[in-house]
Amino acid sequence: MVAHTIDLIDGIGTRERGLADAFARPITYLRISVTDRCNLRCTYCMPESGLPWIAKAEILSYEEIERLVRAAASVGVRSIRLTGGEPLVRRDLAELVARIARIDGIDDVALSTNGLLLAELARPLAEAGLTRVNVSLDTLRPDRFAAIARRPGLERVLAGIDAAIDAGLGPIKINCVAMRGVNDDELFDFAELARTRRVFVRFIEMMPVVENVGDQVDQYIAASELLDRLRATGDLQEVAGPGGNGPARYFAFPGARGAIGVISPLSHDYCDRCNRVRLTADGHLRLCLFGDREIDFRTPLRRGASEAELAALLHGAMLIKPERHHLRLGELSSRMRAFSEIGG
Ligand code: SAM
Repeated sequence: MVAHTIDLIDGIGTRERGLADAFARPITYLRISVTDRCNLRCTYCMPESGLPWIAKAEILSYEEIERLVRAAASVGVRSIRLTGGEPLVRRDLAELVARIARIDGIDDVALSTNGLLLAELARPLAEAGLTRVNVSLDTLRPDRFAAIARRPGLERVLAGIDAAIDAGLGPIKINCVAMRGVNDDELFDFAELARTRRVFVRFIEMMPVVENVGDQVDQYIAASELLDRLRATGDLQEVAGPGGNGPARYFAFPGARGAIGVISPLSHDYCDRCNRVRLTADGHLRLCLFGDREIDFRTPLRRGASEAELAALLHGAMLIKPERHHLRLGELSSRMRAFSEIGG
């Protein structure tokens, strides 16, 4: 297999080798899981009792993450997303945001959160350099929220979304896992939210993981079915999204302030435009959400590897990025890791 590279030319005209995988896809986006711990226990993601958490000593420090991001930026990574677990449960996340935001070449520092702690943290995060927020929210009904997340908190999440908008972190993307018989009767409530407010609600097909593999076949709804159900109620048109790097396709009813998106990992193949890799909380680079091959970066980081060495390792890792995933209904996507460790 051949490693492809792309030329990066900086402000003074120096040519560097930008990351690209064996299928010539430029890799410019790194998702970083900062913790595997979470303050919710969503039924499709995690058992009620939690998971065997990664030992604290194995989790990358902010200094280690910063060094890796510097190396990634030197080979063309431009966007970072902090995720988890729940990233806001990690202490002083704003400090990490500030460290990343000032790295040359990084022009987008985004966050995926369940929103529970966002009301207090949105402003300090924005001041530290955070640019955007995605909030996961599967229901607009308080009782149902407590049933799906196994903890209450809808009011706090809604306050968190408002705080994020006030702090300038909009337009907000809301990620909603669509589940038959669980929340699919709220499709139109979410669509109404996207019509009346400048928010982008993205429905995600439920993916099979250890926690839900029994239910997934019954609860899974294909994005095409969701769109058909929405189309039956009005003139739904495909529209441009709010930007970003995502796999979503967007649609809106006439006059809507926001839009509805669908992310279809099972029914729609977006791998040909994949631009991302993921770093697990314990410092392993995962080349595909659904592929268990990983490269250990924690060991070289802790051995004091230089930026150039880390950049060379990143180039090498590109060789094992798979061309596509082979996710299928009812079949586990990963035998090794929970979603909360990888960052979803
Ligand atoms: N705690 C953060 C949050 O809530 O956004 C980040 C981590 S969470 C694992 C990332 C996303 O993965 C959430 O939107 C969650 O709903 C989604 N997710 C988790 N398990 C999933 C599954 N089996 N199928 C589809 N989406 C899933």
